[in-house]
Formats: sequence, structure tokens, C-alpha cells
Amino acid sequence: MSKFISYRYKDMLPYVPGEQPQDKAYIKLNTNESPFEPSPEAKKVLSDGNMKSLNLYPDPDSKALVKAIAERFGIEENNVAVSNGSDEMLAFCFMAFCDDKTGVAFPDISYGFYKVFADLFCLSYEAIPLKEDFSIDADDYKNKKKTIFIANPNAPTGLSLSNREIEEILSSNKDNIVVIDEAYADFSDSSAIELINKYDNLIVVRTFSKSVNLAGGRVGYAIACKELVEDINKMKYSFNPYNVNTMSGAVATAAIKDKSYFDECVAKVKSAREYTIKELRDLGFSVLESKANFVFAKKDGLSGKKMYEDLKSRGILIRRFDSERIKEYLRITIGSMEQMKKFIEVIKEIVEESI
Ligand SMILES: *Cc1c(COP(=O)(O)O)cnc(C)c1O
Repeated sequence: MSKFISYRYKDMLPYVPGEQPQDKAYIKLNTNESPFEPSPEAKKVLSDGNMKSLNLYPDPDSKALVKAIAERFGIEENNVAVSNGSDEMLAFCFMAFCDDKTGVAFPDISYGFYKVFADLFCLSYEAIPLKEDFSIDADDYKNKKKTIFIANPNAPTGLSLSNREIEEILSSNKDNIVVIDEAYADFSDSSAIELINKYDNLIVVRTFSKSVNLAGGRVGYAIACKELVEDINKMKYSFNPYNVNTMSGAVATAAIKDKSYFDECVAKVKSAREYTIKELRDLGFSVLESKANFVFAKKDGLSGKKMYEDLKSRGILIRRFDSERIKEYLRITIGSMEQMKKFIEVIKEIVEESI
């Protein structure tokens, strides 16, 4: 660190992304990416002559992408804002809707970026503990008088709130924004998108990274009433007007239009998830009831850290966290069925060696 960094950031701890090792080929079950390649339609966009226009700036409004997203969900174009990954969209929400007077609230065990953004934007925050069973208690978020961020399904637990519970939170926080981060909602059974016309304090944040097989494209979006979309775009035009580059915009537009490939990939992940949950439970693991493309599991008597290391030495990467309450748990991204069969084979060996 130099002596020039602002006093505000001297002690700030940045977000630590999951490992992206470049040394050897792992079975990568650590960062919740899709195991499947992008839609063939999306790949085509990059291989033909479309890239001739890279000498020009992209369309700052990303009109084609916004239109494709609006069509997919049957909403108006002015209900959609787009961003460079959903992390940037979350940052726009922190910029636009949080200040010292309101403060911020989110679950204590959740996506690590909420705390990082609170620190980056110098905001006080309340980390609300999950219940004993790791679920979110909607009652804890009622009448909060703070800007609320909830990942639904939550990460790294995979547990989700129903739309009825989300509505209870929304209707008791009429003067505050509630951001529902739906990074994993395509793997669950519900979405809060259907509520945007009913609640002017709801923002649904989504991403192409997990369910649309485009983590490398860095594209995210928000769906909300048009006044909130205007506020978000005010942040975008004050920070990075060309936030979605020409290539990513074109690829994401083609990918979201290819609904059948998307459905096929999501269905494969869900069935590999059910297979993985069942096999892990048969091996004596406690596994939370995941609605996401990962599972959160532990086995009594086995150290999370040691299992992580044993898996890594056998070519399988998973994610774990050091914080006290979840340190024995493994967060295992659901890959292809073939990858999950290999994972189960290896974890069986590890379990057998431990007895
Ligand atoms: C992965 C993830 C994101 C970030 O996704 P990007 O669009 O790749 O920036 C946001 N929220 C949650 C809960 C996530 O797990």
C-alpha cells in the first residue's frame, strides 16, 4: 500500500473472488459458473463480421439487449437497466439508494460483496443473522427503515424465500428500497420480477453469469419500475456510460433470445443438483435444500478445510469459507452430470479414507 491511498480505504478489505487457476485443468466446482458453453447463437455473433464496428463506441443505452431482456420477461423496456456484470448493478444500487441517513441491511451470511460495497461507499450496515437452520427470517427485515439487500436464493446456502415473504418485506418497507439479488433465481421456482408493477420500492438484480453460461461476458441487469430504472441509469451515466461493451452486448442479446438452449442447460443443472444432493446424503452429509446451482454441505467429523484440500489435490476445486459458523461446510457448484459423478466418486474415496 502506498502512503497516498485515501484514509477511507486504508483498512478496507476487498472482495476475494474464487480461484481461477491457470496452471492445470481442474473440475471447477468453485465459482458457480455454468459447465456448459454459451448458446451456439451467442458464439456465432463473435465469429462473423459483426466486430467491424469495434472502432466505434457501443450504444450507451444497449437498446438491443434491453429490448431482448424486456421481451423475455414480458415487461417494458423502461423497466430494464443493464450493467457490466451484476456486481456493477449492485454498486449502482448502493450509490443511488443508500446513504448515512438510511443505512444498509443484509443477511450476515450472504454474498460477500454487500459488505464490501457498504465499506467502499462508506455506509454503516447491519448484518442480520440467519436463523439456526441458515434460512432468512422475513420478520427480521420488516419495518427496517434501511436499504435491504437479499440474495434469493441466498448464497452460499442455496435457501430461498417465497414471493409471499418478499411481499411482506416490501410492504413493510414502503419508504426504503429492497434489492432482491436473483443471481440464482433461474434454478429456483419463483422470481420477484412479477412484483415490479405492484411495488415501487423493489429492484430485482440478475446476471448472465450463472444460468446463461456467460460469466466471462460480464453482463448483468436490473428490473424495476421505470422511475427506479431512471435512477440507476443516472448512476451509470455518471460512472461508466459504455458499461456493456459491443461484444458482450451482442453475445448477451443472442444468448437471451435462445430460450430453448437456456432451458436445456438449466434443466441439466437442476437434475445434476438433485443427483448430487441424494448421493451426498447417502454418504452421510447434511445438505441444505438448494434452489441454486450449488449445494452447501458438511459431514460431521470431517474438516471442511481438509476436504477442500483433498479434493483440490485430486483435481477438483470447490469453495469454502473461513467464518466460524460455516467453516466446516463445502459449497459445491453443480457442474455437468459427468463432472458430478466424478465428484461423488472422489468424495466417496475421501470419506472412506477418513474411517
Ligand atoms: C455471482 C453473484 C453475483 C455477481 O455476478 P456477476 O454478474 O458475475 O457480477 C451477484 N450476486 C450473487 C448473489 C452472486 O452469487
